[in-house]
Amino acid sequence: MRSIPYGKQEIDSKDIAAVVDALQSDFLTQGPRILAFEKAFAEYVGARYAVAVSNGTAALHLAALALDVNEQSNVITTPITFAASANCIRYCGGKVTFADIDPKTATLDVASVKALLEASPKGTYTGIIPVDYAGYPVDLEAFRKLADEYGLWIIEDACHAPGGYFTDSKGEKQFCGNGKFAELAIFSFHPVKHIACGEGGIVTTNDPALYDRLLLLRTHGITKDPAKLQENHGGWYYEMQDLGFNYRLTDFQAALGLTQLEKADKGLARRREIARYYTEQFAGTNVDTSVADNGEGHAYHLYVIKVKNRKQLYDKLREHHIYAQVHYIPVHTLPYYQGLGYGKGQYPLAEAFYEECLSLPMYPGLSQEDLDFVIQTVLQYA
Ligand SMILES: *Cc1c(COP(=O)(O)O)cnc(C)c1O
Repeated sequence: MRSIPYGKQEIDSKDIAAVVDALQSDFLTQGPRILAFEKAFAEYVGARYAVAVSNGTAALHLAALALDVNEQSNVITTPITFAASANCIRYCGGKVTFADIDPKTATLDVASVKALLEASPKGTYTGIIPVDYAGYPVDLEAFRKLADEYGLWIIEDACHAPGGYFTDSKGEKQFCGNGKFAELAIFSFHPVKHIACGEGGIVTTNDPALYDRLLLLRTHGITKDPAKLQENHGGWYYEMQDLGFNYRLTDFQAALGLTQLEKADKGLARRREIARYYTEQFAGTNVDTSVADNGEGHAYHLYVIKVKNRKQLYDKLREHHIYAQVHYIPVHTLPYYQGLGYGKGQYPLAEAFYEECLSLPMYPGLSQEDLDFVIQTVLQYA
Protein backbone atom coordinates (compact mmCIF):
# COMPACT_ATOMS: atom_id res chain seq x y z
CA MET A 1 0.00 0.00 0.00
CA ARG A 2 1.44 3.34 -1.01
CA SER A 3 1.75 6.03 1.63
CA ILE A 4 1.58 9.70 0.66
CA PRO A 5 2.84 12.27 3.20
CA TYR A 6 2.03 16.00 3.04
CA GLY A 7 5.66 16.89 2.45
CA LYS A 8 8.85 15.01 1.63
CA GLN A 9 12.50 15.69 0.89
CA GLU A 10 14.24 14.81 -2.39
CA ILE A 11 17.63 13.19 -1.89
CA ASP A 12 19.49 12.05 -5.01
CA SER A 13 22.91 10.51 -5.67
CA LYS A 14 24.49 13.96 -6.09
CA ASP A 15 23.32 14.98 -2.60
CA ILE A 16 24.71 11.76 -1.14
CA ALA A 17 28.06 12.12 -2.93
CA ALA A 18 28.41 15.71 -1.66
CA VAL A 19 27.80 14.64 1.96
CA VAL A 20 30.22 11.70 1.67
CA ASP A 21 32.81 14.08 0.22
CA ALA A 22 32.37 16.43 3.19
CA LEU A 23 32.64 13.54 5.66
CA GLN A 24 35.95 12.53 4.08
CA SER A 25 37.34 16.07 4.28
CA ASP A 26 39.10 17.71 7.25
CA PHE A 27 36.02 19.59 8.38
CA LEU A 28 32.97 18.12 10.05
CA THR A 29 31.67 21.27 11.67
CA GLN A 30 32.19 24.86 10.37
CA GLY A 31 34.39 24.35 7.31
CA PRO A 32 34.53 25.91 3.85
CA ARG A 33 31.11 24.59 2.82
CA ILE A 34 29.35 26.78 5.38
CA LEU A 35 30.54 29.99 3.75
CA ALA A 36 29.93 28.58 0.26
CA PHE A 37 26.37 27.67 1.23
CA GLU A 38 25.77 31.05 2.88
CA LYS A 39 26.99 32.85 -0.26
CA ALA A 40 24.90 30.69 -2.58
CA PHE A 41 21.78 31.06 -0.44
CA ALA A 42 22.18 34.84 -0.07
CA GLU A 43 22.47 35.07 -3.84
CA TYR A 44 19.42 32.84 -4.34
CA VAL A 45 17.17 35.11 -2.28
CA GLY A 46 18.89 38.35 -3.32
CA ALA A 47 20.28 39.35 0.09
CA ARG A 48 23.82 40.62 0.86
CA TYR A 49 24.54 38.33 3.81
CA ALA A 50 23.47 34.97 5.21
CA VAL A 51 24.37 33.19 8.45
CA ALA A 52 23.73 29.43 8.53
CA VAL A 53 22.63 27.97 11.86
CA SER A 54 21.53 24.65 13.34
CA ASN A 55 17.78 25.02 12.66
CA GLY A 56 15.05 27.52 11.84
CA THR A 57 14.18 28.02 15.51
CA ALA A 58 17.81 28.91 16.29
CA ALA A 59 17.66 31.34 13.37
CA LEU A 60 14.62 33.02 14.95
CA HIS A 61 16.28 33.11 18.37
CA LEU A 62 19.47 34.68 16.98
CA ALA A 63 17.44 37.17 14.95
CA ALA A 64 15.59 38.25 18.11
CA LEU A 65 18.88 38.52 20.05
CA ALA A 66 20.56 40.50 17.28
CA LEU A 67 17.68 43.00 17.45
CA ASP A 68 18.07 43.26 21.26
CA VAL A 69 14.73 41.72 22.18
CA ASN A 70 14.42 41.75 26.00
CA GLU A 71 11.89 41.94 28.84
CA GLN A 72 10.72 45.36 27.63
CA SER A 73 10.00 44.17 24.08
CA ASN A 74 6.51 43.61 22.74
CA VAL A 75 6.37 41.92 19.35
CA ILE A 76 3.44 41.34 17.03
CA THR A 77 3.00 38.09 15.10
CA THR A 78 0.33 35.90 13.54
CA PRO A 79 -1.53 33.06 15.31
CA ILE A 80 -1.42 30.95 12.13
CA THR A 81 2.19 29.82 12.23
CA PHE A 82 4.49 27.29 13.83
CA ALA A 83 4.95 28.13 17.53
CA ALA A 84 8.64 28.99 17.02
CA SER A 85 7.72 32.29 15.29
CA ALA A 86 6.38 33.48 18.66
CA ASN A 87 8.63 31.45 20.98
CA CYS A 88 11.79 33.30 19.88
CA ILE A 89 10.45 36.41 21.61
CA ARG A 90 9.68 34.46 24.78
CA TYR A 91 13.25 33.03 24.80
CA CYS A 92 14.43 36.62 25.25
CA GLY A 93 11.82 37.40 27.90
CA GLY A 94 9.75 39.61 25.59
CA LYS A 95 5.97 39.81 25.27
CA VAL A 96 4.16 38.37 22.24
CA THR A 97 1.05 40.10 20.93
CA PHE A 98 -0.98 38.38 18.25
CA ALA A 99 -2.96 40.15 15.54
CA ASP A 100 -5.59 38.43 13.43
CA ILE A 101 -5.14 37.11 9.89
CA ASP A 102 -6.47 38.26 6.56
CA PRO A 103 -8.83 35.37 5.75
CA LYS A 104 -8.09 35.69 2.01
CA THR A 105 -4.44 34.65 2.50
CA ALA A 106 -4.34 33.35 6.11
CA THR A 107 -1.34 35.63 6.74
CA LEU A 108 -0.94 38.42 9.30
CA ASP A 109 -3.38 41.19 8.35
CA VAL A 110 -1.71 44.58 7.85
CA ALA A 111 -4.98 46.27 8.78
CA SER A 112 -5.27 44.44 12.11
CA VAL A 113 -1.63 45.25 12.93
CA LYS A 114 -2.35 48.89 12.08
CA ALA A 115 -5.40 48.89 14.35
CA LEU A 116 -3.30 47.45 17.17
CA LEU A 117 -0.61 50.10 16.73
CA GLU A 118 -3.13 52.93 16.58
CA ALA A 119 -4.85 51.74 19.76
CA SER A 120 -1.71 52.11 21.94
CA PRO A 121 0.77 54.92 22.62
CA LYS A 122 3.80 54.95 20.30
CA GLY A 123 6.60 52.87 21.78
CA THR A 124 4.29 50.10 23.03
CA TYR A 125 5.48 47.69 20.35
CA THR A 126 9.04 46.95 19.21
CA GLY A 127 8.76 44.67 16.22
CA ILE A 128 6.67 42.60 13.83
CA ILE A 129 7.22 39.00 12.71
CA PRO A 130 5.12 38.37 9.59
CA VAL A 131 5.15 34.80 8.25
CA ASP A 132 5.01 33.85 4.55
CA TYR A 133 2.44 31.23 5.48
CA ALA A 134 2.25 28.19 3.17
CA GLY A 135 4.64 30.02 0.84
CA TYR A 136 2.45 33.05 0.20
CA PRO A 137 4.81 36.05 0.33
CA VAL A 138 3.38 38.76 2.57
CA ASP A 139 3.42 42.35 1.31
CA LEU A 140 6.46 43.49 3.25
CA GLU A 141 6.34 46.93 1.65
CA ALA A 142 3.06 47.56 3.47
CA PHE A 143 4.47 46.24 6.77
CA ARG A 144 7.61 48.38 6.30
CA LYS A 145 5.50 51.53 5.97
CA LEU A 146 3.78 50.77 9.27
CA ALA A 147 7.05 49.75 10.92
CA ASP A 148 8.73 53.01 9.91
CA GLU A 149 5.81 55.04 11.18
CA TYR A 150 5.97 53.34 14.60
CA GLY A 151 9.72 52.71 14.86
CA LEU A 152 9.52 48.91 14.65
CA TRP A 153 11.85 46.32 13.20
CA ILE A 154 10.68 43.38 11.05
CA ILE A 155 11.80 39.74 11.08
CA GLU A 156 10.36 37.94 8.06
CA ASP A 157 9.70 34.29 8.91
CA ALA A 158 10.22 32.98 5.38
CA CYS A 159 10.54 29.28 6.31
CA HIS A 160 7.78 28.42 3.84
CA ALA A 161 8.90 30.62 1.00
CA PRO A 162 12.43 30.31 -0.43
CA GLY A 163 12.07 31.44 -4.06
CA GLY A 164 8.74 33.16 -3.43
CA TYR A 165 8.19 36.82 -4.24
CA PHE A 166 5.61 39.57 -4.08
CA THR A 167 5.26 42.42 -6.53
CA ASP A 168 5.85 45.84 -4.96
CA SER A 169 4.16 49.17 -5.74
CA LYS A 170 6.71 49.85 -8.52
CA GLY A 171 5.89 46.53 -10.18
CA GLU A 172 9.19 44.96 -9.11
CA LYS A 173 9.50 41.39 -7.84
CA GLN A 174 10.67 41.30 -4.23
CA PHE A 175 11.98 37.89 -3.27
CA CYS A 176 11.32 36.52 0.22
CA GLY A 177 14.31 37.09 2.46
CA ASN A 178 15.98 39.69 0.18
CA GLY A 179 16.30 42.11 3.09
CA LYS A 180 14.83 45.06 1.22
CA PHE A 181 11.95 45.65 3.64
CA ALA A 182 12.81 43.54 6.69
CA GLU A 183 15.89 43.87 8.90
CA LEU A 184 16.24 40.10 9.02
CA ALA A 185 14.63 37.05 7.43
CA ILE A 186 14.89 33.44 8.50
CA PHE A 187 14.53 30.07 6.76
CA SER A 188 14.48 26.43 7.89
CA PHE A 189 16.09 23.41 6.25
CA HIS A 190 13.93 20.82 8.01
CA PRO A 191 13.17 17.96 5.57
CA VAL A 192 9.56 19.05 4.94
CA LYS A 193 10.75 22.49 3.80
CA HIS A 194 11.98 23.27 0.25
CA ILE A 195 15.67 22.66 1.00
CA ALA A 196 16.61 19.81 3.33
CA CYS A 197 19.76 19.70 5.49
CA GLY A 198 18.36 17.22 8.04
CA GLU A 199 18.20 20.10 10.48
CA GLY A 200 19.32 23.56 9.54
CA GLY A 201 18.38 27.19 9.26
CA ILE A 202 19.67 30.52 7.99
CA VAL A 203 19.27 34.22 8.67
CA THR A 204 19.56 36.68 5.77
CA THR A 205 20.11 40.44 5.97
CA ASN A 206 21.52 43.44 4.11
CA ASP A 207 22.81 45.08 7.30
CA PRO A 208 26.57 44.55 7.94
CA ALA A 209 26.25 45.33 11.68
CA LEU A 210 23.49 42.75 12.15
CA TYR A 211 25.51 40.26 10.09
CA ASP A 212 28.52 40.66 12.43
CA ARG A 213 26.31 40.33 15.48
CA LEU A 214 24.74 37.11 14.15
CA LEU A 215 28.17 35.59 13.45
CA LEU A 216 29.24 36.34 17.00
CA LEU A 217 26.04 35.05 18.63
CA ARG A 218 26.11 31.82 16.59
CA THR A 219 29.39 30.79 18.29
CA HIS A 220 28.98 31.57 22.01
CA GLY A 221 29.56 35.31 21.50
CA ILE A 222 33.22 34.42 21.02
CA THR A 223 35.51 36.06 18.46
CA LYS A 224 39.13 35.38 17.49
CA ASP A 225 39.19 38.10 14.84
CA PRO A 226 42.25 40.27 15.69
CA ALA A 227 40.46 43.33 14.32
CA LYS A 228 37.69 42.93 16.89
CA LEU A 229 39.65 42.00 20.03
CA GLN A 230 39.96 44.45 22.95
CA GLU A 231 43.28 42.88 24.04
CA ASN A 232 45.48 40.26 22.41
CA HIS A 233 47.60 37.81 24.40
CA GLY A 234 48.78 35.73 21.43
CA GLY A 235 47.67 33.25 18.84
CA TRP A 236 45.41 31.31 21.24
CA TYR A 237 43.57 34.38 22.40
CA TYR A 238 39.82 34.86 22.01
CA GLU A 239 37.24 37.01 23.68
CA MET A 240 33.69 36.25 24.64
CA GLN A 241 32.09 39.60 23.96
CA ASP A 242 28.43 38.72 24.22
CA LEU A 243 26.29 35.87 25.61
CA GLY A 244 25.86 33.69 22.56
CA PHE A 245 24.99 30.06 21.82
CA ASN A 246 26.34 27.09 19.91
CA TYR A 247 24.00 27.27 16.92
CA ARG A 248 26.48 26.12 14.27
CA LEU A 249 25.53 24.08 11.23
CA THR A 250 27.92 21.26 10.30
CA ASP A 251 29.94 21.26 7.09
CA PHE A 252 28.30 18.05 5.85
CA GLN A 253 24.87 19.61 6.31
CA ALA A 254 26.03 22.65 4.34
CA ALA A 255 27.27 20.25 1.62
CA LEU A 256 23.73 18.90 1.40
CA GLY A 257 22.31 22.43 1.44
CA LEU A 258 24.49 23.33 -1.57
CA THR A 259 23.34 20.44 -3.75
CA GLN A 260 19.74 20.93 -2.59
CA LEU A 261 19.92 24.59 -3.56
CA GLU A 262 20.98 23.64 -7.11
CA LYS A 263 17.60 21.89 -7.49
CA ALA A 264 15.55 24.59 -5.77
CA ASP A 265 14.21 26.25 -8.93
CA LYS A 266 13.21 22.94 -10.46
CA GLY A 267 11.45 21.89 -7.25
CA LEU A 268 9.65 25.21 -7.00
CA ALA A 269 8.43 24.95 -10.61
CA ARG A 270 7.05 21.48 -9.87
CA ARG A 271 5.34 22.77 -6.68
CA ARG A 272 3.62 25.49 -8.72
CA GLU A 273 2.59 22.95 -11.34
CA ILE A 274 1.05 20.70 -8.66
CA ALA A 275 -0.79 23.70 -7.19
CA ARG A 276 -2.24 24.66 -10.58
CA TYR A 277 -3.42 21.10 -11.11
CA TYR A 278 -5.09 20.86 -7.69
CA THR A 279 -6.85 24.18 -8.28
CA GLU A 280 -8.08 23.11 -11.73
CA GLN A 281 -9.37 19.78 -10.47
CA PHE A 282 -11.15 21.25 -7.45
CA ALA A 283 -12.87 24.06 -9.38
CA GLY A 284 -16.63 24.01 -8.85
CA THR A 285 -16.50 21.41 -6.02
CA ASN A 286 -16.93 21.62 -2.21
CA VAL A 287 -13.19 22.16 -1.89
CA ASP A 288 -12.36 25.83 -1.30
CA THR A 289 -8.93 26.55 -2.84
CA SER A 290 -9.09 30.34 -2.47
CA VAL A 291 -6.27 30.61 0.09
CA ALA A 292 -3.93 28.56 -2.14
CA ASP A 293 -4.77 30.51 -5.29
CA ASN A 294 -3.14 33.77 -4.23
CA GLY A 295 -0.34 35.43 -6.14
CA GLU A 296 1.99 34.27 -8.89
CA GLY A 297 5.00 34.42 -6.53
CA HIS A 298 3.61 31.79 -4.15
CA ALA A 299 6.30 29.26 -3.15
CA TYR A 300 3.87 26.47 -2.15
CA HIS A 301 5.49 24.90 0.86
CA LEU A 302 1.89 23.86 1.50
CA TYR A 303 -1.24 23.56 -0.63
CA VAL A 304 -3.98 24.45 1.84
CA ILE A 305 -7.65 23.83 1.13
CA LYS A 306 -10.69 24.67 3.25
CA VAL A 307 -13.51 22.17 3.73
CA LYS A 308 -16.54 22.12 6.04
CA ASN A 309 -15.97 18.49 7.12
CA ARG A 310 -12.27 18.78 7.78
CA LYS A 311 -11.97 16.11 10.52
CA GLN A 312 -13.94 13.54 8.55
CA LEU A 313 -11.89 14.22 5.41
CA TYR A 314 -8.62 14.05 7.36
CA ASP A 315 -9.61 10.66 8.83
CA LYS A 316 -10.81 9.27 5.49
CA LEU A 317 -7.61 10.32 3.76
CA ARG A 318 -5.60 8.55 6.47
CA GLU A 319 -7.59 5.36 5.85
CA HIS A 320 -6.27 5.64 2.30
CA HIS A 321 -2.74 6.31 3.58
CA ILE A 322 -2.83 9.94 2.50
CA TYR A 323 -1.29 11.89 5.36
CA ALA A 324 -2.72 15.38 5.00
CA GLN A 325 -1.93 17.78 7.86
CA VAL A 326 -3.40 20.76 9.64
CA HIS A 327 -1.34 23.98 9.63
CA TYR A 328 -1.76 25.39 12.21
CA ILE A 329 -3.46 25.13 15.56
CA PRO A 330 -3.63 28.88 16.37
CA VAL A 331 -0.59 29.62 18.55
CA HIS A 332 -2.56 31.73 21.07
CA THR A 333 -4.73 28.69 21.91
CA LEU A 334 -1.78 26.40 22.76
CA PRO A 335 -1.71 25.68 26.51
CA TYR A 336 1.57 27.54 27.07
CA TYR A 337 0.18 30.72 25.52
CA GLN A 338 -3.13 30.24 27.33
CA GLY A 339 -0.99 30.23 30.49
CA LEU A 340 0.23 33.69 29.49
CA GLY A 341 -3.33 34.97 29.35
CA TYR A 342 -4.34 34.22 25.77
CA GLY A 343 -7.37 32.16 24.95
CA LYS A 344 -9.96 30.99 22.47
CA GLY A 345 -12.19 33.65 21.00
CA GLN A 346 -9.51 36.34 20.82
CA TYR A 347 -8.61 35.99 17.14
CA PRO A 348 -11.82 34.78 15.49
CA LEU A 349 -10.58 34.81 11.88
CA ALA A 350 -7.55 32.66 12.72
CA GLU A 351 -9.76 30.31 14.74
CA ALA A 352 -12.33 30.01 11.92
CA PHE A 353 -9.53 29.26 9.46
CA TYR A 354 -8.19 26.54 11.76
CA GLU A 355 -11.61 24.80 11.77
CA GLU A 356 -11.53 24.23 8.00
CA CYS A 357 -7.93 24.17 6.79
CA LEU A 358 -6.15 21.07 5.52
CA SER A 359 -2.74 20.80 3.84
CA LEU A 360 -2.72 18.32 0.97
CA PRO A 361 0.40 16.47 -0.21
CA MET A 362 2.81 18.93 -1.83
CA TYR A 363 6.39 18.05 -2.75
CA PRO A 364 8.35 17.94 -6.01
CA GLY A 365 8.55 14.13 -6.07
CA LEU A 366 4.77 13.68 -5.89
CA SER A 367 3.93 11.57 -8.95
CA GLN A 368 1.05 12.36 -11.30
CA GLU A 369 -0.52 9.03 -10.33
CA ASP A 370 -0.38 9.82 -6.59
CA LEU A 371 -1.62 13.36 -7.23
CA ASP A 372 -4.65 12.02 -9.11
CA PHE A 373 -5.28 9.49 -6.33
CA VAL A 374 -5.21 12.29 -3.72
CA ILE A 375 -7.63 14.44 -5.75
CA GLN A 376 -9.99 11.56 -6.42
CA THR A 377 -10.01 10.58 -2.72
CA VAL A 378 -10.55 14.16 -1.54
CA LEU A 379 -13.47 14.59 -3.96
CA GLN A 380 -15.01 11.33 -2.78
CA TYR A 381 -15.31 12.57 0.83
CA ALA A 382 -15.29 16.40 0.75
C1 LIG B 1 9.66 25.03 10.25
C2 LIG B 1 9.33 26.37 10.77
C3 LIG B 1 10.07 26.99 11.77
C4 LIG B 1 11.14 26.31 12.56
O1 LIG B 1 12.10 25.69 11.84
P1 LIG B 1 12.93 24.44 12.46
O2 LIG B 1 14.06 24.29 11.49
O3 LIG B 1 12.01 23.27 12.48
O4 LIG B 1 13.38 24.84 13.81
C5 LIG B 1 9.74 28.30 12.10
N1 LIG B 1 8.72 28.95 11.51
C6 LIG B 1 7.97 28.36 10.55
C7 LIG B 1 6.87 29.14 9.93
C8 LIG B 1 8.24 27.06 10.16
O5 LIG B 1 7.48 26.47 9.25
